Amino acid sequence: MDFSKYKNILVYIELADAKIAKISLEVLGAAKKIASKTNEELIAVVTGSGVAAAAADALTYGADKVIAVDNADCADFNLDVQTEILAQIAAKYLPSTILLGATQNGKDLAGRLAFRLGTGCVSDAFGVDVDEAGNIVWTCAVYGGAVYTDMVIDSARPQIGSLRSAAFKKNEPVPGKTGEIIQEDVKVSPEIIKVKAVESVKEISETVNLEEAEVIVTGGRGMGSAENYELIKELAKLLGGEVGATRPVTEAGWVPKIHQVGQSGKIVSPKLYIACGVSGAVQHTSGMTGSDYIVAVNNVEEAP
Ligand SMILES: Cc1cc2nc3c(=O)[nH]c(=O)nc-3n(C[C@H](O)[C@H](O)[C@H](O)COP(=O)(O)OP(=O)(O)OC[C@H]3O[C@@H](n4cnc5c(N)ncnc54)[C@H](O)[C@@H]3O)c2cc1C
Repeated sequence: MDFSKYKNILVYIELADAKIAKISLEVLGAAKKIASKTNEELIAVVTGSGVAAAAADALTYGADKVIAVDNADCADFNLDVQTEILAQIAAKYLPSTILLGATQNGKDLAGRLAFRLGTGCVSDAFGVDVDEAGNIVWTCAVYGGAVYTDMVIDSARPQIGSLRSAAFKKNEPVPGKTGEIIQEDVKVSPEIIKVKAVESVKEISETVNLEEAEVIVTGGRGMGSAENYELIKELAKLLGGEVGATRPVTEAGWVPKIHQVGQSGKIVSPKLYIACGVSGAVQHTSGMTGSDYIVAVNNVEEAP
């Protein structure tokens, strides 16, 4: 098929308190890697109300250009509005690829957008490469993380994919880097808005920042008891890190669920991950294989 009219990589930027969310910085990192292989431009799409600072930041974090949709109607994330905006931008700029973060909103948006544009969508990829034909090769975990699979979208453009949190490194910022910021005045008619957010409530229980931690010390069931688990906390404190846990540990109540790493917990990528008394089940390792160094303390040498 002839895809020659499709060019460049669009990255949808999610904002958190008017700043680029960490996941979107990681997506810019992955996009840069692809763009350098395909010789395409990396274009960030920033939507919201008062997005000038975020648009400038996108340039310092690797975007070649930014499309900014600065509109009071976009102040809060609305799926109908964002789908319409991205669909219009995709129709105008004809990108080869659209990348989003695999957040709740990002995954929702990716699927809707793919349907709207009549193309394919890959969800929650943790690896991206480019094949000889120029297709993105998306690596995803299936069957609860037991099997990894490579997928391509080779019959339609743009290729759309959401990328897993903490699976990609963000680009080093280049302070003062400038570039073109294109202001797009996208019109969204009110009839298409079917759902409205009436209130946003911030979760206040979250005090553990596993996703940002450089050192994580995790204790598993092999720690034996809640008292022994205190050693994990002590070591984490001495190393200036955070405390992680496996599911049996959070279920036993040794630490709250917010410390859980894995498929049904947090996805983390510290510089150093120390796992004590952890067997290494796929449901756990799928949440921490992005760590730079992994130290496992286990009395069974064959433990995975
Ligand atoms: C749908 C689903 C989702 C799941 N999500 C998650 C998830 O998000 N995160 C998660 O962690 N799990 C998850 N699980 C559970 C997962 O399958 C494993 O059961 C769990 O990770 C095992 O935890 P563990 O390693 O602490 O315990 P175990 O598997 O019991 O391992 C304990 C380890 O400690 C070692 N040990 C024992 N005594 C000592 C000692 N004295 N010194 C050193 N080592 C010792 C043992 O050799 C063993 O390897 C999920 C399961 C399902 C089905």
